[in-house]
Amino acid sequence: MQLARRVLEVKPSPTLSISSKAKELKGRGEDVINLSVGEPDFNTPEYIKEAGICALKENFTRYTDTSGTGELREGISQKLRKENALTYSAEEIIVSTGAKQALYNAILVLCDPGEEVIIPSPYWVSYPEMVRLAEAVPVILQTRNFKVDPEELKKVITKRTKAFILNSPANPTGVIYRREELKAIAEIISRHNVYCLSDEIYEKIIYDGEKHISIGSLNNKIKSLTILINGFSKSYSMTGWRIGYAAADKEIIAAMKRLQSHSTSCPNSIAQKAALAALGGSQSEVEIMRKKFEERRNFLIEKLKEIERVTFPTPEGAFYCFLSHPKITNSLSFAEKLLEKEKLAVVPGIAFGKEGYLRLSFAASFGEIEEGVERLKKFLKTV
Ligand code: PMP
Ligand code: GLU
Repeated sequence: MQLARRVLEVKPSPTLSISSKAKELKGRGEDVINLSVGEPDFNTPEYIKEAGICALKENFTRYTDTSGTGELREGISQKLRKENALTYSAEEIIVSTGAKQALYNAILVLCDPGEEVIIPSPYWVSYPEMVRLAEAVPVILQTRNFKVDPEELKKVITKRTKAFILNSPANPTGVIYRREELKAIAEIISRHNVYCLSDEIYEKIIYDGEKHISIGSLNNKIKSLTILINGFSKSYSMTGWRIGYAAADKEIIAAMKRLQSHSTSCPNSIAQKAALAALGGSQSEVEIMRKKFEERRNFLIEKLKEIERVTFPTPEGAFYCFLSHPKITNSLSFAEKLLEKEKLAVVPGIAFGKEGYLRLSFAASFGEIEEGVERLKKFLKTV
């Protein structure tokens, strides 16, 4: 069989495949601890589920506008104004099948073949693959203490640079960018008219009293170059509902709508009603989940400190800990053996472009975290 070159070069998402392998082993009755998953383990809050049930009962089961219902885009517009100090009209917003599709569509409408997209490393697994699928070129930028060094950023910008991907809070490191850091990045990319794909999917999962800052809110110039990406998967524990969105200049959004109209059409109508309820309801459940993540983060950090020579940046947001140990030289084979011998599923650092590391998700119970760290400790003694 001769498949297209485009797809032959694409590797499957390692985060999704490791997680499904762990789920499969668990399903077969194996005693697996799964710290690979990149999804909240909480149930979707009741009031959101009720809105989905209600949508079904009221037969809200037909195509909506390709870019999502007007009421949902209006709700997102208000959310962005209130929480992110950003003014986007409903025409400057598109709702997609997860933030993943919003991001992919944005890359497809922005990049011509051969154009470059700067991706700070370690990066979320799908960024380089999406760029390659668009036949553009991922330019991996090494970071300093897991954050972009403005001087290094300047050096990788060329005439072919089309976009830069910012992810704060970040997957897999949990670092967040402060206002001054964002200003320095915004200044450089604005000067070169580089678009900023700002993936803000973890904005509400943030610790130690920190507040998320949207880069587009810094000034009008950077706003005009920013494509904000967000969604409901992480904040509202709605990974399976598949609702994400993008906010950007009207022309970009119109192009994304044209593209979406020929690929998936509108996102799921029932899930859109649920997402609208999520925005309109009390945000107390979001805060309850955030607090639980913070307690788990603290617990995981304390447990990891019991293992000699393990180092990691303190996760300031998201729900991952990105750790290294001198014995993790080949992270892929380390993670495979860890799963085989100790039945602990984690994601190897190499999947995020960084060798010598593992990503542990703390979207898990205290018991699972404790047992997971014990198994890692035990395994480290044997290698
Ligand atoms: N961006 C990042 C950094 C992520 O970790 C995820 C998680 N899947 C996504 C985007 C996409 O989320 P979703 O498609 O579920 O909205
Ligand atoms: N983003 C999550 C993760 O990094 C979910 C998996 C995925 O979409 O790749 O694990």
